[in-house]
Order: sequence, then structure tokens, then C-alpha cells
Amino acid sequence: MDIKKNISDIMDDIQKHSPSPEKVKLVAVTKYVDTETIKEVLKCGIKDIGENKAQVMRDKLSVLANESINWHFIGHLQTNKIKYIINDVVLIHSVYSLSLAAEINKKAESIGKIIDILLEVNISGEESKGGYSKETIEQDISSLKTLKNIRVVGLMTMAPDTDDHSVIRNVFSSLRNLKDNLNKKYFEGSLTELSMGMTSDYKIALEEGSTIIRIGSKIFS
Ligand SMILES: *Cc1c(COP(=O)(O)O)cnc(C)c1O
Repeated sequence: MDIKKNISDIMDDIQKHSPSPEKVKLVAVTKYVDTETIKEVLKCGIKDIGENKAQVMRDKLSVLANESINWHFIGHLQTNKIKYIINDVVLIHSVYSLSLAAEINKKAESIGKIIDILLEVNISGEESKGGYSKETIEQDISSLKTLKNIRVVGLMTMAPDTDDHSVIRNVFSSLRNLKDNLNKKYFEGSLTELSMGMTSDYKIALEEGSTIIRIGSKIFS
């Protein structure tokens, strides 16, 4: 496992594949590794760390309390576990319902914080995946905008498991088009982030305008 080289290769790929590399952030997904290994990532200059389980994130961030880390939550968040991460998280990538957003808003308000979130969209419509559908997302927007302690800053998606690059590319370009449409209709350009791209598909995601790639396996192999 050569973390330094793997990260450096990903940084090169950002330059090579993104039309706006200066806008792209790498989130190192550390769900596979322990806190000592996270420190190796930090030494490579990466501060954005992603976890997909609330209790695991709570445990790791308490061990790493002296480090300067931007914690990203990328998994399925249950409302009774928001409290584990609310103090530390900088971006919740995976908000899939108004009730979850309202609960995050409530917890954020109780600690006097405004928290950035992304809306997760299930573009491919696979039943195994969570998230809003392209059609239902608009129903919640006016309500989401009334929640004062959350700020919707973009969209997130996961591509389907397939080797067919054209299918994957279509999912990513659909998310970009959805963001552009929502920006015009409701957000006046304040949606800036597209969280898309993992180990197997991040180059395609970059080409389609991703601003946040979430990578685990490639860093830790
Ligand atoms: C695990 C995970 C990733 C990273 O996936 P890799 O294929 O290991 O790069 C990205 N996003 C989410 C939501 C994940 O759960």
C-alpha cells in the first residue's frame, strides 16, 4: 500500500480529466482503515476525510481530535445518529429526504451551527440505491429552503455497478444537468458542488464536471 503514490496519481488525474481542476476536492474515504492509516493520508496534505457510518466517524474523530480534518459524511444517515457527527462534520453528502434534512436542521440549530448538505439523487433508479429520484427532488425544495440551519450546496450520486462507460457517463451528466436546472429555477447559482466519482469511475466523473471525488480503494491498495 503506497498511499502517497496513490494520492499523487489521483491528483494527476484531476489535472488531466477535469475541465476545472482548481474546483475539485479529493475526499479520502477511510471506512476501510484505522486512525493510524488516516494519519498517513493527512501527511500527504489531504484534509478531507469521508466516513459512511456515524458511530465509526464519532470514534475516529475523537481519536484524531488534535488533527485538522474536514469530516465528510457520505453514508446512509439515521436521524438518531445525527448527534454523533453534527459537531464536527463539514458536509453531509447523502441527504435523501425532507424529514432527515429537518432533523439535521434541528440539531444544527441546537448547537448554533449552519451545516452544508448535498442532496443525494438516485439517477439510475436502481432499487438498491437510496436518494431522491430526478422527479421527486423538486417537491421538497421550497421546504428545504425554509430550514435556516442547513444550506444545500449541491448534489451527490453513485453510478450503477456496470462496465458500460456510456451508462456511467450518462448518470454523471444527468446529475450535472439537474444541478444546472435547479440552480436556474430555485437556487440562483448557489448549488456549486457535484459529489460524484469513486475508485472505478472517478475519471469519467471528472470529465463530467465533478467537484468532489470520494475515493477509498484506490488510495488504500
Ligand atoms: C465506500 C464509498 C466510496 C469509496 O468507494 P471506493 O470504490 O472504495 O473508492 C465513495 N462513496 C461512498 C458513498 C462510499 O460508501
